[in-house]
Amino acid sequence: MSSDLPRQRETPSPEAVPFLDLGPSERRVRAALDAAWSEALRSGEYVGGAAVADFEEAWAAYCGVGHAVGVGNGTDAIELALRALGVGPGDEVVVPANTFIATAHAVVSTGARVVFADVDASSLLLTAEGVQRVVSPRTRAVVAVHLFGNAVDLDELLLLTRALGIALLEDCAQAHGARWRGQAVGSLGDAGCFSFYPSKNLGALGDGGAVVTSDPRLAAAVRQMADHGRSAADRWMHAVAGRNSRLDALQARVLSAKLPHLDRWNDERRSAHSEYRRRLAGAPGVQLQLAPPGSTSVHHLAVVQVDDRARVQAELAEQGIGTGVHYPVPCHLQPSLREPGREAAHLPVVEAASRRIVSLPMYPGITSGAVARVCSALSGAAARHAGEESLRAVGRG
Ligand SMILES: *Cc1c(COP(=O)(O)O)cnc(C)c1O
Repeated sequence: MSSDLPRQRETPSPEAVPFLDLGPSERRVRAALDAAWSEALRSGEYVGGAAVADFEEAWAAYCGVGHAVGVGNGTDAIELALRALGVGPGDEVVVPANTFIATAHAVVSTGARVVFADVDASSLLLTAEGVQRVVSPRTRAVVAVHLFGNAVDLDELLLLTRALGIALLEDCAQAHGARWRGQAVGSLGDAGCFSFYPSKNLGALGDGGAVVTSDPRLAAAVRQMADHGRSAADRWMHAVAGRNSRLDALQARVLSAKLPHLDRWNDERRSAHSEYRRRLAGAPGVQLQLAPPGSTSVHHLAVVQVDDRARVQAELAEQGIGTGVHYPVPCHLQPSLREPGREAAHLPVVEAASRRIVSLPMYPGITSGAVARVCSALSGAAARHAGEESLRAVGRG
């Protein structure tokens, strides 16, 4: 993850376009951030307290739910929400194979088994059909991941999980402010899990996360587990063997200072994405990844598919254009998730896409000139290398 962060201290050439630049958005909140840090010092409250409660209240309201519980990071948010839902050893949890590894590792940490689903070929997101193919009598929950800032089709997933009597968790780590048919992501399933890692759409100046839910008992269970299993009535009585995964007061203040800007930052990502869409329409050998029709997306990433990714990335790098791949190795093929004595599933859509996807520069404040430079470099490179990887693959076969 840390490789996602820009090296802001280097002076880039004026023509260069970094993959991610937090500078333009942070400059706009610099004064508010300075104030947040000095208030934190004045208050003397560093873990928990009013600053965390204030942010939790604001974040719950933004997501349209009754409760938000600040935790240490997005991975813990998923694990603690699953545990609070009663998921543990002997259970299975369905996760899309196309996600950041943390979604799957969080399931492993509960003691449950991760079962990977293939994704939809046009959106690269989880679908009810994909889940249906892998559910078993042991399935206790599904984690829908709103990847790239695009909302998963939750209509069918809600119908399916309700019919099966299992939980639906939303991994919203890339989708702060995204909506499915007008409703904020995180508010439709049993709980939504957010990361505030610095590169996310709403990022702290360090690690942070939150679980949002409209179920007060679920919120209380997450809060208890994240704070050493303390019972609400007596802080020295421990009802469950919890842990320490709390949101720092400093980070809560930073997040409260940034929250009023989130919608505008997401709008800037949307404008950049429409510009990519307009300029890449019809470009030979480039396919821009689009969201399902009910999604109001927040474009955490701008993903395209090309035939010869390695050469396209190298040509863009020569022109000073940064790119990324999210993700080059699908979760079900990761050594950490291989199950002894079992063959890894064959998930053809994820496997094919993982060889073709490239993430283009995307951040609030990216200029239309920068997007134009990326598109012209990409169109040239992709057209020069169109069809090449598939031809080489045939030659090898
Ligand atoms: C970032 C991310 C996470 C993990 O969040 P951390 O705060 O880094 O633990 C989980 N899922 C997805 C899809 C992510 O992008």
